[in-house]
Amino acid sequence: MRILVTAGPTREPLDDVRFLTNASSGRMGIACAAEARRRGHTVILVLGPTHLAPPRGVGTLRVTTAIEMKRAVERAFGACDALVMSAAVSDYRPARRVPGKIKKRRGRMTLALVRNPDILAGLSRRKGRRIFAGFAVEAARIEERAAVKLLAKRLDFIVADRPEAMGADRQNAVLLTDDGERVLFRGVTKRRIARAVLDRIEALAARRRPR
Ligand code: C5P
Repeated sequence: MRILVTAGPTREPLDDVRFLTNASSGRMGIACAAEARRRGHTVILVLGPTHLAPPRGVGTLRVTTAIEMKRAVERAFGACDALVMSAAVSDYRPARRVPGKIKKRRGRMTLALVRNPDILAGLSRRKGRRIFAGFAVEAARIEERAAVKLLAKRLDFIVADRPEAMGADRQNAVLLTDDGERVLFRGVTKRRIARAVLDRIEALAARRRPR
């Protein structure tokens, strides 16, 4: 199969030296890309800014902002059979990128932000027979919120975890499928979750293949 994976945070510039970002390390998506490659799939990894190296044998497109990630994903999307959207895309970006460096002034400063596009939601309209896997970090009401995203973004399944899981070696998570299945992971590695993600993708693909 041809599997498109996104990983890492995005970085949204305020000026030439400052940016907004989040705590995503990229490890989950990199683990998925590595596992897919190990199983012999063709993998394209769209990778946000991280110090981690992409797995060997994986075609990697490095991006910085959410808009750049959207463009790269949309370009690779046509040729893919499955999309694993594990990137922590920044929901907002500064309304304006100031050239040079913003100077400090006396008193309070207000930052104007605008919404970034939702990459996955945009692609769900063009899903076709592709398999979609999503991820969600939730601080509360994890399963309820993940279930809403599963439906809204037309995912086949979603893996949800808590902010503590970001960058952690071992973590808890829950995988929810569009047909109501629920799998709990306790104290597992990201590699273990990546294996479960790839198991699901391969099983769904086998079911969809004409016999
Ligand atoms: O941020 P949220 O919890 O809605 O993320 C759920 C899923 O949607 C994730 O798989 C994430 O990669 C994707 N997403 C996206 N574009 C955004 C925000 C999230 O594709 N702007």
